[in-house]
This record gives sequence, C-alpha cells and structure tokens, in this order.
Amino acid sequence: MIEKKNKKVVVLATGGTIAGWASDLNAPHNYQAGQIEVAQLLMELKESPHNILSEQITQIDSKDADDAFWRVLAKRAAYWLEQTEVIGLVVTHGTDTLEETAYFLQAVLQPNKPLVLTCAMLAANAPNSDGPGNLKDALALAFDESASGVMVVCAGDVHAAHEVQKIHSLRLNPFSSGDLGPMGQIVNGEFKRLRPASSIRWPQPLPSVKDLLADQSWPRVLLVVNHAGNDGSMVRAMLTHDAPDGWVVAGTGNGTLDHALQDALEQAQTQGARVIRASRCSWGGVQSRADDLFAHAGQLTAVQARVALMLALMVKK
Ligand code: ASP
Repeated sequence: MIEKKNKKVVVLATGGTIAGWASDLNAPHNYQAGQIEVAQLLMELKESPHNILSEQITQIDSKDADDAFWRVLAKRAAYWLEQTEVIGLVVTHGTDTLEETAYFLQAVLQPNKPLVLTCAMLAANAPNSDGPGNLKDALALAFDESASGVMVVCAGDVHAAHEVQKIHSLRLNPFSSGDLGPMGQIVNGEFKRLRPASSIRWPQPLPSVKDLLADQSWPRVLLVVNHAGNDGSMVRAMLTHDAPDGWVVAGTGNGTLDHALQDALEQAQTQGARVIRASRCSWGGVQSRADDLFAHAGQLTAVQARVALMLALMVKK
C-alpha cells in the first residue's frame, strides 16, 4: 500500500495546441503548435510539484503523428505504468489525431490505471486559453484511483478512448462520443461517471508492447475514401509503385464503394494486401453483407480500423 503523499501522476507531453504559441495576439488562431515545455505548462497550474512528474516526449503538431511517435509514446507510457508509485498518466496531445493515439494506446497497453489524454483548442498564450483548465481536469482524473483505461478529457467532458471523435474544427469542445454522450464529466475537480464505457471487440491477437517495440518497420496501412467519381486510380497507381500492406476504405453509408474503386481494391487484395471496409459516416459503423468482398470494420471508425489493421498485421507478419 503506497502512502497518499507518495502517489504520483506523470505528465507525458507531446506538443499540440496546448503547448502552442501565437506570436501575434491580435491573430491568436495563427499559432505554432508544440512550443511550450511541459515544465512551464505545469508551473502555471501551481499544482504540488511533489506528486507530479513530467517528461517531454516530443514537440509535434499532432497532424504529424506517425509510427515513430507512437513507438516512443507507448514505450514511455508502458514504463511509467509499471512504476508502483505512479497511479495515473496524463498525455498532452494535439486534438487533430488524438482519437487515433487514444485508440492505439488503449489497444496496446490496456492499462488498469487511468491514462488521460488532454489537449486545447487555443494556444497557451491566447486570451482565455482552454489548455490550463483541461490539464487541471486531466490531472484530477489521473489521480482518481476509481478510474482506469485510456480516456480523453476536454472542456469538462470525459470520453472513452474507443468512443471519441473530433467532430468540429473550431469549437472549444470539439469532441463527441456520439449518441452515447461523454462517459463522464469533471465537476469542480472531481470525476463524475455518467455511464460505463461501451464494450468493444479489440483486434485479436494484439502484439505485446515488447513485440511492438522490437518491430522496426510497422505494417503500412493507408486510408482511402469513397466519393462520387472515385475511379480507383489512386489505389491502382500505388499497386505498381508503392503498394502498402493494407488498405482501409471509408465507404459511403454502410461502407459501399464505387465499382471502380471496388475493382482496384479487389486487385490490391489479390496481390496480397489486407482490405477493410469501413464507413465515412461518423457513427453507425458498417454491417456485414452477403456479397462482402472485404472484411468489414464493424463499429470501428475508419481511422480506428486503420490502427486495428496495422496491429493485426504486426502479429501476422
Ligand atoms: N494542429 C493541432 C494539433 O493537433 C491542433 C490542436 O492541438 O488542437 O497538434
């Protein structure tokens, strides 16, 4: 049993708008993400430094998140989760690909402690920046020993890693868990659970963190969207030059595909790539069809299906 005074939360900082800086405060939306060090972000909160450790993992705009970034983040998160005095983690992250990182971390770490991703929509020096409030809320959740798993905290809402999507490009609360609503809220610094997180089938088998770190070149899985007039030329061009190991196709509605795109993807599948059919709709997923040519993503969003396929291929390689 660890004494309360020795319990720690570790903040892993990765950049994003929460660490962004606007050089002209008359135009605060013109800012550079990933400029402010985590030590400075924490200093401004005036929380007890004794219980909060921090590590600057990287300083990126999350639009640039890639395998190398996920590798180092998974490695450091796994390390800190193993430390007995550490009861929770916070990851500061850009909003743009936060849902992909959240899904990835839950799939590979499945932590029994809280791992809370947080973010901001306004740069750190913008008037009324939302970053400090979000970070404070994320710390409150990470210190809550009744919570576990990967969650996202933004604008007072708490979302489960596999339920959350960024649905707005400007709002201070850009995330949604769809019809389910957030699984919880942070009210006056306390976590209020509104409902249990929905159940989900994680890709099976999943690579262990050890395998994931040992694998030097993760499978390359690309995402293509069906749209009016998609003639499949992009997929076909890649088949001859730079074929990926897998494709996720965000189809229209219930994952339907223009016949030309379908032909191109069938060709990719014949050449050995794995193809998963998802939907470009935000919610609802895709149902199986009697004439399915490709595996379907079920309830996974297209970006989640891309992560799931990458992990599945890692095991099969
Ligand atoms: N482009 C930023 C990022 O994702 C946006 C944000 O943090 O809100 O890093």
